[in-house]
Amino acid sequence: MNITIVGTGYVGLVTGTTLAELGNSVYCVDVDASKIAKMKNGIVPIYEPGLEEMFLRNIQADRLHFTTELSEAIDKSEVIYLALPTPPGEDGSADLSYVLGVAEQIGSLMTNYKVIVNKSTVPVGTADKVREVLLSKTNSPFDVVSNPEFLREGFAVEDAMNPARVVVGSTSERAKEIMSKIYQPFTNTGIPIIFMDEKSSELTKYAANSFLAVKITFMNEIANYCEKVGADVDHVRLGMGSDDRIGHRFLFPGIGYGGSCFPKDVKALIKSGKNENYDFKILEATEKVNQKQKVILAEEIDDYFDGQLQDLKIAVWGLAFKASTDDIREASSLDNIRIFLERGAKVIAYDTVAEENVRKILGDQIEYAKDMYTALEGADCLLIATEWPEFKNPNFKLMAEKLKNKVIFDGRNMFPLELAEQNGFYYKSIGRKTIT
Ligand code: NAD
Repeated sequence: MNITIVGTGYVGLVTGTTLAELGNSVYCVDVDASKIAKMKNGIVPIYEPGLEEMFLRNIQADRLHFTTELSEAIDKSEVIYLALPTPPGEDGSADLSYVLGVAEQIGSLMTNYKVIVNKSTVPVGTADKVREVLLSKTNSPFDVVSNPEFLREGFAVEDAMNPARVVVGSTSERAKEIMSKIYQPFTNTGIPIIFMDEKSSELTKYAANSFLAVKITFMNEIANYCEKVGADVDHVRLGMGSDDRIGHRFLFPGIGYGGSCFPKDVKALIKSGKNENYDFKILEATEKVNQKQKVILAEEIDDYFDGQLQDLKIAVWGLAFKASTDDIREASSLDNIRIFLERGAKVIAYDTVAEENVRKILGDQIEYAKDMYTALEGADCLLIATEWPEFKNPNFKLMAEKLKNKVIFDGRNMFPLELAEQNGFYYKSIGRKTIT
């Protein structure tokens, strides 16, 4: 099948590449000319494990094409996916200008039947809005489908090739048949397609992300309480998670959730609720707790140094909002670094994958180390902000040699407490005893 994807970010590029891998001819459109130029030259513009190999293979097989011109790609395909940004507006609501803007362009360009598949995360009722915009621009027939994306950055290729389920919101038999054909390689292997109406499908995505944000935040509160009463969150987490009604996943405490999805989707659902005079109290609390959790260690560091951060040097391991991605949107590292800088400390950070993106925001307000141990040279303490695997089993002897003080604040609970103790470190993690 010929498929057009509009927007080639994390979702669009991964969706396009995996649909090409499944044998479709895919036309990727983006307004970012430099991104398109890179991709035409065989360069993947984002960091996503496993993507490059599949990307190159499908370019070689002539199944993956790139253009900045929507008009070029529209005629080629019956199915057009929208994988466009839906960032939070000032009031927290999802900004639909990208989605509706492209819908308007499609409406002006299309001359025969199209299925417009929305993969962006959008509030309930957006399919209707897209439909209205299209109707105002075209007399050609079309269907609008909601097909939310559940992939995780860092595992995007794996998730896109082997999803837990595919959710398709559509009331059109013709569109459902086309979507079934696209996802037939999945259904063939037992992956279910769950069909529903557009509104339920749009809400499914917000409900899923908000639930996960609540789960993480709940565990962070349990962890904070563990510290107050001398319990160990690792034991509590194992004890809780063994109950299969709860499960082990998303029970790891830390310095809050970030990224391009959870924060904005929680905000958007709160705002959508308000529009219907409904208060999502649990989500409002989640947001508040998470904001505080993100900087809980910056405040602990400030306390440790008696409020005297000026001229201290703080090493930060990890900048990405989580491991295996270069995405730094709403990353906890940035909130902590901003506090350190405001209070006069110097920061030297290490994260070779996310560094380039942080440089675009912080420039040379901080230093960037070329390896994890160089970052520690002469530093007054270390903050671990991302759970990159290379931090899991470090050379403690070398760390002790490089650091000015043997002090670690670990926002991702990377080490067993005994290891920090044996190596003589002050070690503060989340929800566990502080080693002094
Ligand atoms: P992104 O910012 O990485 O990519 C969006 C792309 O759209 C960019 O390349 C941008 O240049 C392009 N674009 C903007 N305006 C355009 C236009 N008018 N025409 C063509 N291209 C245009 O965003 P993303 O992370 O891929 O997210 C896209 C959507 O998917 C969002 O709604 C997001 O909430 C949702 N989503 C994201 C993830 C994730 O993990 N990133 C997971 C599930 C769902």
